[in-house]
Amino acid sequence: MTTANLIATVDLDAVAHNVGVLRERSGVGVIAVVKADGYGHGAVPVASAALAAGASAIGTAGIREARDLRAGGIDGHLMAWLHRPDADFTGAVADRIDIGISSPRQLDSVVAAARDLGTTATVTVKVDTGLARSGVAYEEWDAAASAVARAVAEGSIELSGVMCHLVFGDDPGNPFNDVQAARLDAAVADLTARGAAPRVVHMANSPAALTRPDLARDLVRPGIALYGYSPIPSMGDFGLIPAMTLETQIALIKRVPAGQGVSYGHTWHAPTDTVLGVIPAGYADGVPRGLSGDLSVHVNGRLFPNVGRICMDQFVVDLGSDGGGVSEGDRAVLFGPASAGSGERVPTATDWADRLGTIDYEIVSRIGSRPERRYV
Ligand code: PLP
Repeated sequence: MTTANLIATVDLDAVAHNVGVLRERSGVGVIAVVKADGYGHGAVPVASAALAAGASAIGTAGIREARDLRAGGIDGHLMAWLHRPDADFTGAVADRIDIGISSPRQLDSVVAAARDLGTTATVTVKVDTGLARSGVAYEEWDAAASAVARAVAEGSIELSGVMCHLVFGDDPGNPFNDVQAARLDAAVADLTARGAAPRVVHMANSPAALTRPDLARDLVRPGIALYGYSPIPSMGDFGLIPAMTLETQIALIKRVPAGQGVSYGHTWHAPTDTVLGVIPAGYADGVPRGLSGDLSVHVNGRLFPNVGRICMDQFVVDLGSDGGGVSEGDRAVLFGPASAGSGERVPTATDWADRLGTIDYEIVSRIGSRPERRYV
């Protein structure tokens, strides 16, 4: 029996299915990206399900995230690629994390950690092929490549991979994808000529993994598609299955007279006598306040609209003058896959994102720690 008001049910079979879709469409292996606590789904269970479904490795942004996975019992290949300038990599090297480096200075820190531990560190070189965020900058390439070759020669690092991240992955026909691929290939050729050939090369995120198998090289590195969201909604769902259903129960039902104002600021007044349902979920649970008045909840096969402002912990839906046949304790689905309920279509995280002018990545990764994660 749960004590949490809101439950994020995560279907790990859907994650496994999505890994299969990504492997099949890309034709190569998958680095499952589980940064930001598995895009809000729970990093350890998602990583474990992805590896069991045949993923080759797990990727995170920060070292802390990767080390938490190791501490959580994930034994597979872990890679992390974004670090503070003063990062100490000793723990990461000891934990056998593949460290993505974006500068010669980061490589120096990794080499120092490997020497301290008397071991060989595993390193991936992240190349800035045009995104202009993390990754080795063009003007530092020569220094970085010679430092990598030196470190490989002296045995302080093993070059696991070379990677970059696409600017226009969600625009498969954009010629800049090919420009980035050519730059990455040139970086690999340069390292190889210096005696530091990587084991694997990868650049494709979810949209590229699904639409541009020619960019796949050795592995693809999807995040959002693992969780079942189409990275290019205009191209359909690619057979992906959304893994998360965000659900709760109707906490309280009350009848109010016409004219009753609802929630902070009384931004909505009941036009007629009506029945209200209280949903015990709010913006502290990742239900964006910006959706106030523009959100529906799925109960017993029907959609009921939110009225009044979404608060930190709760919001109100209008059940109509006859109460919609809804009782306290009835299951209320905020979003999920179509299979999360019968009758009217269950809203999706993508619906929320579209209304807010954002992307579903932001919706799911902001479902914080308060909702209970339940794995099925
Ligand atoms: N690779 C890197 C370096 C990333 O930063 C991300 C996420 O932004 C991904 C892969 C996964 O991207 P997506 O969720 O679009 O598949």
